Amino acid sequence: MKFVLDCHVHTIASGHAYSTFMDYVGEAKKKGLELIALTDHGPKMPGGPNEFHIINQIVIPEVIDGIRVLKGIEANIIGFDGSVDVPERAYPRLDLIIVGFHDVVFKPGTKEQNTEAFLKAMENEMIDIIAHPGNPKVPVDNEALVLGAKKYNKIIEINNASFLTTKSRAGSKENCYEIARLCNKHGVKMIAGTDSHVHFDLGVFNNSIKVFEEVGVDEELIMNTSAQKLVDYLNTKGRSIKVK
Ligand SMILES: [Zn+2]
Ligand SMILES: [Zn+2]
Repeated sequence: MKFVLDCHVHTIASGHAYSTFMDYVGEAKKKGLELIALTDHGPKMPGGPNEFHIINQIVIPEVIDGIRVLKGIEANIIGFDGSVDVPERAYPRLDLIIVGFHDVVFKPGTKEQNTEAFLKAMENEMIDIIAHPGNPKVPVDNEALVLGAKKYNKIIEINNASFLTTKSRAGSKENCYEIARLCNKHGVKMIAGTDSHVHFDLGVFNNSIKVFEEVGVDEELIMNTSAQKLVDYLNTKGRSIKVK
């Protein structure tokens, strides 16, 4: 199983990341990836980019040095009604939208409230990927989340960085395994993301791959194996993205 794309990447614009998009392009080429998505944090993240940064990504070429570069955002959930910090005028300009729950932006509630926030966010058709579920700081009903992803045709991320005990989501491991098992059981798409904040981490999927292998995930459900498969999914939202 060869992974050819990484759709969770933060550049210096995120405020607490350290590489430029060109650093990532170089790293992608070095590691044999075909596609990356720039997913800087949404504007509500302390120190994050302003909305002009997000909408102006269209100036970046679609293909650089043979690497397809999608323009995206890792938006924040900012309300239990599922509202997110994507500027309205950014929607038609973005190739991909990841949404994550970050406790520094929005204080988590009860398990029921957090689950409801995710389910409501999923009603937003233009949201594609649910970032790093499984964080014990943001308790969620895992099965309800996965069934929501099935109902609304969303991709669940199995985030490689969630397994690092030094990172902000320590303790995610058990939940990530359970979520992967549930996705596999219910036929829900998954994507491994590195959540890179420095380009050296791009394309390093060891933890996510271990989960996929140990759970025995159906390869068809894994979105990292083909740029065309990912783009076909993104285009179900009315976009017209080309692989090259
Ligand atoms: Zn970050
Ligand atoms: Zn995140």
